[in-house]
Amino acid sequence: MTYVVVGGGLAGAKAVETLRESGFEGPVTLIGAETVRPYERPPLSKGLLLGNDEPESVFVHSTEWYAEHDVDLRLGVTATALDRATKSVRLDNGDEVDYEKLLLATGSSPRRLDVPGGERALLLRTLADSHRIDEAVTKDTRLVVVGAGWIGLEVAAAARSRGAQVTVVGTSALPLQHILGDRIAQVFADLHRANGTDLRMNTHVTEVTADGVRLADGTTLPADVVVAGIGVTPNVALAADAGLAVDNGVLVSSKLTTSDPAIFAAGDIANIDHPLLGRRIRVEHWDTAIRSGPVAARAMLGEDVVYDRLPFFFTDQYDLGMEYTGSAPADAEVVVRGDLAGREFIAFWLVDGKVAAGMNVNIWDVSDQIDALIRSGATVDRARLASPNVELSDLAA
Ligand SMILES: Cc1cc2nc3c(=O)[nH]c(=O)nc-3n(C[C@H](O)[C@H](O)[C@H](O)COP(=O)(O)OP(=O)(O)OC[C@H]3O[C@@H](n4cnc5c(N)ncnc54)[C@H](O)[C@@H]3O)c2cc1C
Repeated sequence: MTYVVVGGGLAGAKAVETLRESGFEGPVTLIGAETVRPYERPPLSKGLLLGNDEPESVFVHSTEWYAEHDVDLRLGVTATALDRATKSVRLDNGDEVDYEKLLLATGSSPRRLDVPGGERALLLRTLADSHRIDEAVTKDTRLVVVGAGWIGLEVAAAARSRGAQVTVVGTSALPLQHILGDRIAQVFADLHRANGTDLRMNTHVTEVTADGVRLADGTTLPADVVVAGIGVTPNVALAADAGLAVDNGVLVSSKLTTSDPAIFAAGDIANIDHPLLGRRIRVEHWDTAIRSGPVAARAMLGEDVVYDRLPFFFTDQYDLGMEYTGSAPADAEVVVRGDLAGREFIAFWLVDGKVAAGMNVNIWDVSDQIDALIRSGATVDRARLASPNVELSDLAA
């Protein structure tokens, strides 16, 4: 009755923890391609680069935890093939591991900059990547960040806080515009410009040279270091090659079961049939990894579970901390409660007069209420939604 987890990231680590916490006593194997035990990635672009977090604090469990919980942790080995007929996983060290139930939690890989010289750009996914950027960026560095998404902006903020000269290049008119829409994306543009970052928007990099980058309009930006944060691709090759249903991630039911009932998927790769949203969604965020790993583990144990957690993510950039709950198109109607210019507000995205997503910026302990408001499906009065004098819980009624 061996339970095997492929992918030694957050989702995989939380899954094996849940298997043991649920009293499962059979063999558990966790296979991870990286040479270090599972860790959390958010500090890689924030606390670790800012020097605020101790390197040891990023790990999900202590080294001893795995032995103490009888988890066979195999690091530095990659699963190369699945044989669903014999229920076995082939590893790149020649080993084969049999499974009764299998969880795939293989996460994502960062996209490479596909231009001449693109291989010169540093990427940020692993601890080793974070150390590399940490060493490369000093107060004297001219840094060009390619990509004005979450990772790019966080790296830019960390580098500016070191005194580096930072330019961010993005393809849209505003950073994060395709996620947040014009009005709220402007908040992030203002934040970064106010902190001395040169934002070059509506353009793209055509070449990375030994001493800088070239933009589409022919401009060259001198750079000592180039970091690309241009999105990630889910690691689905193992699942696809084994004939599992794959379409923008591994297709799973609300119980996180793949098209093979003995195989489950969680974290970044899982394209979940979400019961509350009424559609499929794949979420590349920390909260999904930490929540879906345990749900998948319980499903492996035969428990009657459903994954209905709303998407949730957070970022910290300079003095702006925010949490985003729900899922809404960037061009949905926005209602703001609070002080947009002062960067202390809650933004709500409305679809059909109902709150589909909410983002609290420098306002804390409200994400549960935003979650409840979305779940309530209540049609909201816009003036009351915008008024800080009305309790969010009253709007959910
Ligand atoms: C720098 C950075 C900052 C982030 N900040 C935030 C944030 O502020 N807020 C937020 O919500 N989210 C953030 N995220 C996203 C979040 O970290 C991810 O969503 C989360 O790590 C996904 O967890 P996972 O376990 O699904 O996959 P991963 O963390 O990618 O782990 C998967 C693991 O599986 C391994 N693997 C892959 N294929 C195989 C194979 N065939 N055999 C064996 N092992 C394999 C990989 O090497 C990797 O170690 C950040 C991500 C990064 C990179």
